[in-house]
Amino acid sequence: MPHRPDTPNHCRRCGTCCRKGGPALHQADLTLLREKIILQEDLYTLRVGEPVHDQAAGRVIPLNAECVKIRSWNAAKTLLAQSEAGCRFYQPAPQTIPAKPTVHPNGRCAIHETKPIECAALKCWDTADLAEAAATPRLSRLDILGPDNALVELVHDHETRCSVADLVRHLQAPTSESADLLRQAAAYDAALRDLLQEKAGILPDHLPFLLGRPLPEVVHGLRRWLARG
Ligand code: SF4
Ligand code: SF4
Repeated sequence: MPHRPDTPNHCRRCGTCCRKGGPALHQADLTLLREKIILQEDLYTLRVGEPVHDQAAGRVIPLNAECVKIRSWNAAKTLLAQSEAGCRFYQPAPQTIPAKPTVHPNGRCAIHETKPIECAALKCWDTADLAEAAATPRLSRLDILGPDNALVELVHDHETRCSVADLVRHLQAPTSESADLLRQAAAYDAALRDLLQEKAGILPDHLPFLLGRPLPEVVHGLRRWLARG
């Protein structure tokens, strides 16, 4: 049957969805980490309380459970907004388009055969399967690290001392102590990132998964969200 690029009920592998950003990971994706198809360095964590766009609700709401997602290529240096950079497993097409383009000329997923469940369920013409996959239990850092990992305690400590809920509280209704407390939280966040690299040999690329985005970026996002009301 000849290929019909405008057929609305199958994937043309145009890559538009992949260029919007990587998926959140769910329990069913844990095997991809165990088999090292996806590495911890490929991930970043959105922490409890961070505002994200909820497709089902149709608006931005704070996360009630942390969300581990696949990063963009650019994320090693600066964690760009997902609208600015696509999933790091997306391989764009070469600059030179072949004289006889294939039906998939626009790029490909480097882990297509083993892609995460949200990607396997994604059909841009019918979002029911994606909604079902997205509603299954998400992976947390603890699931990925395992309970015996020495880093778990540090992750918990960071969550306590740099809690997003506390940041929101101090930004929303500042007291005379808020500026100092925000500075202390940012200093602790930065010091812990340095310590993990210097004393534990953790690579910088690992930190967005372990500790989420650097605190100044989180605070910047919270200020923008709160300013929108
Ligand atoms: S599912 Fe993604 S890759 Fe497939 S046609 Fe839709 S936007 Fe393109
Ligand atoms: S994992 Fe593959 S299918 Fe999923 S968003 Fe990334 S490139 Fe696209």
